[in-house]
Amino acid sequence: RAKESGRNRYSFFTADMQQFHTRNLLLENALRRAIDRNQLSLVYQPQYSLVDQQLFGFEALLRWHHDDFGQVSPAEFIPLAERSGLIVAIGEWVIITALQQLAQWHNSGYRQLNMAINLSSIQFRQENLQQFVYNAIEFSGVPANCVELEITESAMAEQPEKAIALITGLRASGLNIAIDDFGTGYSSLSYLKRFALTKLKIDQSFVRDLLKNSQDKAIVRAIINMAANLGLKTIAEGVETEQQRDLLIQLGCDEIQGYYYSKPLPAGQASEFIQQQLQSNT
Ligand code: C2E
Ligand code: MG
Ligand code: MG
Ligand code: MG
Repeated sequence: RAKESGRNRYSFFTADMQQFHTRNLLLENALRRAIDRNQLSLVYQPQYSLVDQQLFGFEALLRWHHDDFGQVSPAEFIPLAERSGLIVAIGEWVIITALQQLAQWHNSGYRQLNMAINLSSIQFRQENLQQFVYNAIEFSGVPANCVELEITESAMAEQPEKAIALITGLRASGLNIAIDDFGTGYSSLSYLKRFALTKLKIDQSFVRDLLKNSQDKAIVRAIINMAANLGLKTIAEGVETEQQRDLLIQLGCDEIQGYYYSKPLPAGQASEFIQQQLQSNT
């Protein structure tokens, strides 16, 4: 009997694995055609500065809608895109599309707006990344200092010397660099002084239970204080309630992003949001 249930459990396990594997293969194949078939889009999540409670920019987040699979979460398809190398072409599409959108907002008078763009560590390894970003920025016509690249700790940890050179180059031309999901990766704190960074993004896992969990609060406080002493800004992500926001203000956090202000919005809705929130400068 034990043996039987053991075997059943084993076959369940392999059936699950098989299904997982098959879905991944199908998704990966579909992803190859996603750009050409116009299935990718960007949504934009507002970012607020806490000092003056002003909307100052957006983070571009990728969405994929497939006819059969429906809406596929980036948590599922980005790892597939990374493993297959498709992330390079997809990431280039993201950079160009996000900058085009920012240029449109600047041209309609909202020149104070910034755009944050996520970079995979695979993109970060591409020799031509710097040149590609420069060209895309020049083509779009937006000032480089309105653009922020979000990288993860793993991008810095893989080849630190190359990463330092790349970040130094990008920063020299005015771009901003934020560390995404800060505190969840494997980077060493010494990177914070060796890399010319602009901002730390406090991961939402520390923000979620900020009011209930004194350890999370201690970690967030420590990140904010350390960042301030190093001349780096902090932005908290995943802020959903007024209480979280108020505590983050009290702890000295600079900026906030989360459902409390807004979910990520499709371009049209983001434009309406801007019109409600900001005065045009034209
Ligand atoms: P991330 O860059 O850390 O983005 C934050 C995620 O938290 C987003 O999920 C966002 O929709 C979600 N979020 C924002 N506010 C809240 C909130 O108040 N509460 C909760 N529970 N969640 C919130 P999303 O859009 O599903 O993206 C997931 C991850 O996929 C991103 O994490 C990023 O690592 C990756 N990703 C998304 N777009 C791109 C992209 O264009 N390129 C690359 N390389 N990665 C991307
Ligand atoms: Mg991000
Ligand atoms: Mg994050
Ligand atoms: Mg994340």
